[in-house]
Formats: sequence, structure tokens, C-alpha cells
Amino acid sequence: MSDKKDFRTRVIHEGLHPSEWQGATLPPICQSASHLHETAENLSATFGGKTSDHIYLRLTNPTNRVLEEKLALLESGKGAVVMASGMAAITNACMALLRTGDEFVSGNSLFMSTYILFNNIFKKYGITARLVESTDLAALEAAITDKTRFVYLETIGNPKMDVPNLAETARIAHRHGLPLLVDNTLATPYLCRPLELGADVVIHSTTKYLSGHGDAPGGVVIDGGNFDWQQGRFPDMKPFIDRKGPLAFLDKVWREHHINFGTTQAPLHSYLTMIGLDTLAIRMERHLENCARVVDFLAARPEVTWIKYPGRLDSPSHLTAKAQFNGMGFGGILSFGLRDQAQCFSFINGLKMIYHLANLGDCKTLIIHPSSSQYLSFDEPTKQSLDITPDLIRLSVGIEAVEDICQDLAQSLDRI
Ligand SMILES: *Cc1c(COP(=O)(O)O)cnc(C)c1O
Repeated sequence: MSDKKDFRTRVIHEGLHPSEWQGATLPPICQSASHLHETAENLSATFGGKTSDHIYLRLTNPTNRVLEEKLALLESGKGAVVMASGMAAITNACMALLRTGDEFVSGNSLFMSTYILFNNIFKKYGITARLVESTDLAALEAAITDKTRFVYLETIGNPKMDVPNLAETARIAHRHGLPLLVDNTLATPYLCRPLELGADVVIHSTTKYLSGHGDAPGGVVIDGGNFDWQQGRFPDMKPFIDRKGPLAFLDKVWREHHINFGTTQAPLHSYLTMIGLDTLAIRMERHLENCARVVDFLAARPEVTWIKYPGRLDSPSHLTAKAQFNGMGFGGILSFGLRDQAQCFSFINGLKMIYHLANLGDCKTLIIHPSSSQYLSFDEPTKQSLDITPDLIRLSVGIEAVEDICQDLAQSLDRI
């Protein structure tokens, strides 16, 4: 498919090869643990990386490979590996670059499990995450030392709803010989393509908007293929550069970590994710439109004490988001405040249609009180540094009729 076609067309047609699938318009779900090889020579050549044949599901799989090609193309990357979850993708991508004694710099507006991985788990192995305000470029640069191995950001932090400047951060990282890794789960390649803005690696939890139906956990690491790994900081990259050239990083993620940690994606989940991708663009259009309308609705309610959403003029991230996103909107998620935790509980308990659960990016509108749920085990100073306050509610706006979403919010607000 030509790059010139619009994203809304490419998201449907990119990476499909019906002629290889007996005319089927969807890839077969190849549910097989292992693959036959006709000759000993062929299996040996495949283990040596000289053919792209499949060996064993934990290494590669035909259904997974279709999704990998498709996601790489949609994010303007050169290659991708799908994994069992977003956390598997984040863990493998970071571990591929880190050794004991290393450091990395990350925005502090992080998904909860990423925060735990960076601060608690990596610490056990002598690795230091230097967390800074995601949008503070000076602090980010000041945190770089000669031990730093990469810079890490999320396109839209949640529930802070801050949007870091990816192009400027990439320039700073590159000036210090470092790659920029970006978790693009909340924006999706429909709204923002970090590799086109200078980032080097993109990660997704495909569990969220990409699959869209809350039916298929998954993650992906996408390599932009442009970072120069030959520079001083990455001597351990040499064998991977020799083997895969510009895709050295992805090869290291795959060969050293993914296949040995066993973070295998189920072929059925890749298949379901591909079905979801067919409607990504039209779903995102509705998510963005509905979210903007819900923000306006909440802003007019006296019970709502504050709203964080990059689409609002009072958001410190508004201009960055406007410049970085595709012009169609500002994401499908917002945070807002009520008086206190008791009022948040009463409001959530009074909802009739909106689902109360721990997920986001689903067709359905989802709500959660982060302080008492996902962040329950976090101590108060950490919660405060992440803006996880007791009065905060996070709303992931779905694609239902926006009147019905607002009606449900209204009937519960009326009664708190
Ligand atoms: C959900 C999420 C993850 C983790 O993904 P899983 O598929 O649940 O492992 C990572 N980053 C962000 C921004 C997320 O929303």
C-alpha cells in the first residue's frame, strides 16, 4: 500500500496479503506451537537467521507477523515485535538497553505498572530511573549523566493529562547520544506518530485503543530504525548491528529478551487486534469528538472542581498537544475533580450505564477513582508527585451517543 494514502485508509488495508491466504481477507489464526521443516539444512538456515520461516511460537508466528508488519507501517517504523501485553513490551524494550549500574531518564507521568517497574523492580537490579516532570525539558537534560542509556516518555500522561514535547525531547536525547522511547498507547498512531517527530522507539499496549474492544491483551515494540547505535554508549549493541543493521535494537529486544522471557503473544490476540484496527480511525474520531463534548458538559457543572484535558485552553500542554497531534482532537481521556473521595464514590456508585473498571481506550465509557484503586498501595508523597489526589476521577470516554454519556453523568451528579 502506498504511503500517500490517508491513514484512515491505510489502517484498514496496510499489511494484508489475501493472495497468500487463499483469498481470505483476514489472516488465518495460525494456532500451532511449532512449524515443520523439510530439510535439516532449512532448519539450520532458519536458526541462523537466513530465512524468515517460522520455528516455534515463542520465537515467531505467521499471524503475529502480519500484525507486526501492519503496526510498523502505521507508526512509520521499520519493524515491530508483538508481545503478550503492554507491560511485556515496556519491560523488554527497557531491559534490552539496561545493565546493572545504568541509569535512564523518564517523565514522571507514567502508567502505574510502568512506575512500579521503573522505581521498584529495576532498583533491585541496581538500575536507577531518574524521573523528572515530563514537560520540563531543562530538568530532563539536567538528569542525563554518563550512565544514562535512554529517555522515556508517554505521549499523553495519565491521569495528569500532560503532553511532553516529543520533538524537543528527541533533540536533547540525540544531542547526548541517547534514544527516545515513547509509550504511545493513549494517543494511538491516528492522533500522533512519535517516530515522525524524532522518537526512536514506540511502544503500545494494544489492549487499549488499537484493539478497542477490551477483548485482547497485547503489546508491541516498534523500531524506527534510525538511531545510530554505533556511538559510544552502546558497545553491547555490536553483534546486533552486525546481524540486523538499522534494526539492531529490535533484534536485541527480540533475541535477548522477548523469546527468552517467554512474553509470547497469542495468535488469536493478534487476530482480534487486527479486527479492532480496521475501525481504529473511525473509533478515534468518535472518541475525540465525544471527549471534547463531555469536557464541555463537565465544565458547566458546579459539582466539578477542576478538569484536566489537553484540549482545554487552560491546560499547560494545550499548545504542545495542538502542534503534535493530527488536528482532529486531544485524546479520549480526561481527569476531573469532585469535592472529595466520598463524593467521588457516591458519583461512581450512582452511574447506570458507564462501566466502573480498570481499563481505558475501550468502545465503552469507563470510569475509575485511581487513588483508591490502581494507586492504593502507593505512599502519600508518591501519590502527590503523580497528582493522584483523593478528589480525582478518570474518565475514558467511549463511542456511545454522547447525549447518553452526558445524561448518565448528569443523573449521578444530580444526586451526589
Ligand atoms: C495499559 C497501559 C499499559 C500496560 O499495558 P497492558 O497491556 O495492560 O500490559 C502501558 N502503558 C499505558 C499508557 C497503558 O495505558
